[in-house]
Amino acid sequence: MTTTTAAADLADPDDLADLDASIRTDPGAHRVLTGDRPTGPLHLGHYFGSLRNRVRLQRLGVEMFLVIPDYQVITDRDLADRLAEHTENLVLDYLATGIDAERATIFTHSSVPALNQLLLPFLSLVSVAELHRNPTVKDEIAHSSQAAVNGLMLTYPVHQAADILFCKADLVPVGKDQLPHLEVARTVARRFNERYPHPDGTTVFPRPGALLGAAPLLLGTDGGKMSKSRGNSIPLAADEDTTARLLKGAKTDADRRISYDPAGRPEVSNLLLLAALCQDRTPEEVAEEIGDGGAAALKRTVTEAVNEYFRPIRARRAELAADRGHLREVLRAGSERANVIADATLAEVREVMGSL
Ligand code: ATP
Ligand code: MG
Repeated sequence: MTTTTAAADLADPDDLADLDASIRTDPGAHRVLTGDRPTGPLHLGHYFGSLRNRVRLQRLGVEMFLVIPDYQVITDRDLADRLAEHTENLVLDYLATGIDAERATIFTHSSVPALNQLLLPFLSLVSVAELHRNPTVKDEIAHSSQAAVNGLMLTYPVHQAADILFCKADLVPVGKDQLPHLEVARTVARRFNERYPHPDGTTVFPRPGALLGAAPLLLGTDGGKMSKSRGNSIPLAADEDTTARLLKGAKTDADRRISYDPAGRPEVSNLLLLAALCQDRTPEEVAEEIGDGGAAALKRTVTEAVNEYFRPIRARRAELAADRGHLREVLRAGSERANVIADATLAEVREVMGSL
């Protein structure tokens, strides 16, 4: 099973094969940026949608930037709840799943002021109609706890463009919901480069490409996108009993014959995919094995597969959790490095724009 599938500019399998080859032969020519909102614990969707790809890319030698976009929390709610705790827990999840903090730059958005200066020229490159058309923003508005849409909600894909472009990242491992935002980042990069080239004709920004994981849209226990904020997720760090209880409550269907049919039976197929990813098999093989066992047997299989796969990650997480000071130190060092890079990019932006 592939761990990376094509997206955006990488839609052509030949391009993707070229990219894979280029990453293997010259990892130093690439940079990864991605991140997660500090709104709650990371879940299985994060792991199979993005995290596993991050770890793989870092192990191949690609430089890794992980932003924790704390201002993005207040796009769909009035108050940022337990921000410090959620932020530390994200770092913990990163380290437990195999991100090497020595070689990664992990930082919060709010600790890098230059990001918010990049935002202003970037906002001028995107029309209000384009902001309104973004399907992921529309979906998030539909699930928002706010009565009215705030300005931050409408503009956050542009903030994200700044988060990606400040370090000139070309690879962004994300889930499917992020594809429209990557399109915004690519549009911003292209329009900026067209309007403000260097005098010698070279341009400031690369065009970042989305890298989808093996489960670009893992469903939650209610059949919708698994999300930290929608009460339908299975956290990476859940204990084995909690995992069993949550999976037991997962939506399925009444057909006892288990089959892999993502379009016709999305919930059953989602559970099959989850078991398959944990066991490094195909979903069809898992379905075949369960046969006429029905949803109960399927859920038992998935629970065992998930608990087995995440046992070492959870044990490592528990060890790392004992040293909260280390997590803060990782963020401090990451913020220091991100600021140096963001300041340099901002200086370049101001220069090509002709600012004094
Ligand atoms: P929230 O409900 O607070 O928005 P979330 O679960 O949607 O949380 P994000 O922090 O918004 O998580 O997303 C972080 C990254 O994880 C993004 O790259 C996103 O595409 C990816 N991701 C989130 N949910 C899933 C999912 N269910 N399947 C695959 N990838 C996902
Ligand atoms: Mg989200």
